[in-house]
Amino acid sequence: MPIRYYSTNRYLNNVAGIVPFTASVSFKEALLMGQAPDEGLFVPDSIPHLSISDILKLRDKPYWQTAMLVAQAFLSDEFSAEILEAVVKGAYNFPVPLEAVYPRAFVMRLDQGPTASFKDFAARMMARLMSHCRAKGERLNILVATSGDTGSAVGEAFKGVAGIDVTILYPTAEVSLMQKKQLDTIGGNVQALCVEGKFDDCQNLVKVAFSDPKLAKFNLSSANSINFGRILPQIVYYVYAYAELAGAGEEVIFSVPSGNFGDALGCEYARRMGLPVAKLVMPTNENDEFPVFLATGKYNKVSPSRACISNAMNVGHPSNLARFFELYGGTVDRVGSVHRYPDIEEMRRHIYSVTVSDKQTRETIESVYNRYHVILEQHGAVGWAGLEAYFKTIPDKNLAICLETAHPAKFPEEIKQLLGITPELPQSLKDIDRRKGSAINITNDYDAFKDYLQKKLKIKE
Ligand SMILES: *Cc1c(COP(=O)(O)O)cnc(C)c1O
Repeated sequence: MPIRYYSTNRYLNNVAGIVPFTASVSFKEALLMGQAPDEGLFVPDSIPHLSISDILKLRDKPYWQTAMLVAQAFLSDEFSAEILEAVVKGAYNFPVPLEAVYPRAFVMRLDQGPTASFKDFAARMMARLMSHCRAKGERLNILVATSGDTGSAVGEAFKGVAGIDVTILYPTAEVSLMQKKQLDTIGGNVQALCVEGKFDDCQNLVKVAFSDPKLAKFNLSSANSINFGRILPQIVYYVYAYAELAGAGEEVIFSVPSGNFGDALGCEYARRMGLPVAKLVMPTNENDEFPVFLATGKYNKVSPSRACISNAMNVGHPSNLARFFELYGGTVDRVGSVHRYPDIEEMRRHIYSVTVSDKQTRETIESVYNRYHVILEQHGAVGWAGLEAYFKTIPDKNLAICLETAHPAKFPEEIKQLLGITPELPQSLKDIDRRKGSAINITNDYDAFKDYLQKKLKIKE
């Protein structure tokens, strides 16, 4: 039976403002729609199983082979093996280092892609899958609003992908110079628009465009973080790390610094696919709604969200919490209202969460460097601090793997101040100052934006 995808809001009858979407869609439809029409998130109706022997056979094999195993398990009804192989080989042409901190405790560096953040893993596979979901001869036009790193990961991921053009909107005053440079210079089929306004203005422009009937002919699609097509690739590296490091059947602890919970959700699915995960550790920064929920059983989002140095994790109500609740029998909507609580005892059995303050984050960057000569940046340091907190609660330490989600050289001031060193930029970012290209400046006026799209976007290949 092919896997079908349902909305997490499908049971919400009689809830003001929500018309539940009760139908199911294919993966390709979920990929192009992004979100369900009732603003719920798409979830698979079943989770395929991987055998331990198939997983262990991947040891010492290139990363794309693990991606192929996971992709085939979910997608073989909708994509041929030839297409999937081209997708994963094209997406994963960079290393995935597993660095020992001390025996049986590792950091998995997901920072070797083109924008040096783990978001490259998801965006690159999703972009290539989307290219195979177009109607014959037609173009897809992706619109993304971004306040920073997601935009460049998505833009770089689509660069050169056949049949797709990408328009990225970012707010003038809310991106760093480095981010602006990254966004402006992608080039080719990716155009940046620098919007005079805030991130909310960018989001609004995109939102109105999606529902504008005059623009329907352009096959507009989003590439936002709640797309199931971005979750699927995030299952792969857990399986990869296991195959590389674990003995047959051995249980492993993963620690995943968490903001919108998409990364950690990949681990949750990996466990449900059969990966022996002893515990999923999900540390957050001071946006502590989830650790508080696990401790008390009551969910209250943090609003407004708190500004911490691990800024990619400044999320007061993680969007993928809806999928976590669903997996444990609960329902929570987009604004954070809980309609049915999940089985919290079951959640506590599998998940450990803790809040990590900025002070602890900085201390962790220092102590890990001083004791082990391993450089972490602030997101990975939240992950490591969470792992250490979890170790204090258990008698024996399993094999443990902490995810480092960005490259330390992306945060030179912080690292210089704490460690007195300047980490070397990864290859992919070294030439950034010499890149050419510029954004088009626009105001936050919708009619002007629409005019631009109508002149610029193409319908046919
Ligand atoms: C997005 C991001 C995170 C958080 O990942 P989620 O999937 O949103 O939990 C952590 N670290 C970095 C560097 C990120 O860019």
